Amino acid sequence: MEHKSRDGSPAVNNADTASRISSPRTRSGKDGTQTARISGRALSRTVDALMRLPGIGRKSAQRLAFALLTMPKEEAAGIAQAILDLKESSRFCSVCNNITEEPVCGICSDAKRDLSRICVVEEPGNILILEKTGIFRGRYHVLLGALSPLDGIGPEELKIDGLMDRLRAGDVKEVIIATNPTVKGEATALYLLQLIKPMGISVTRIAYGLPVGGDIEYADENTVLRALQGRREM
Ligand SMILES: [Zn+2]
Repeated sequence: MEHKSRDGSPAVNNADTASRISSPRTRSGKDGTQTARISGRALSRTVDALMRLPGIGRKSAQRLAFALLTMPKEEAAGIAQAILDLKESSRFCSVCNNITEEPVCGICSDAKRDLSRICVVEEPGNILILEKTGIFRGRYHVLLGALSPLDGIGPEELKIDGLMDRLRAGDVKEVIIATNPTVKGEATALYLLQLIKPMGISVTRIAYGLPVGGDIEYADENTVLRALQGRREM
């Protein structure tokens, strides 16, 4: 996954991002030229711009662009303004790299949170999902990505130094690694384990398993294998 601010600057808004957004031609190619020829340059530019978002391919981008085109102008302007406001006021928390409008996010500044546990995640969005469960009362650390040597993402590109500084402060007794169960997420988890274990801090990994309400018959072999390995006494 791409990240715009690997240089350590906390603000999401930086010149690099601005230049990337002003020239949304990277994934344009032949299809983009065709869109421009058939439907006009403005639509083609919008499609190219939307395709810069994760998980949005050309078809989805075209559907979104048509939706923007057909909605009332004020509504479309509201979306544009919301994006500008987001870029203007949001930044990364200086402690955990969560998204916040303050220098330190609400979780890090909440005195009732358990200081002895840090849950490590890849993306700020992961915090929202973990918070929904309501069972974790510790704090978080967002790496802003996962190790991926082939994409040129090594430990220096992730927010690992900040995590180590927090651990050296001495309050933390357990680090829960909640990176994704992917090759990149696993590599990141193992790398962190090697760094943290020698500090005498307990390192745990979130369990893998079958989806709730799912059926073993439809799960892939790897998931069943992990679920079996992660079994616990009832
Ligand atoms: Zn924070």
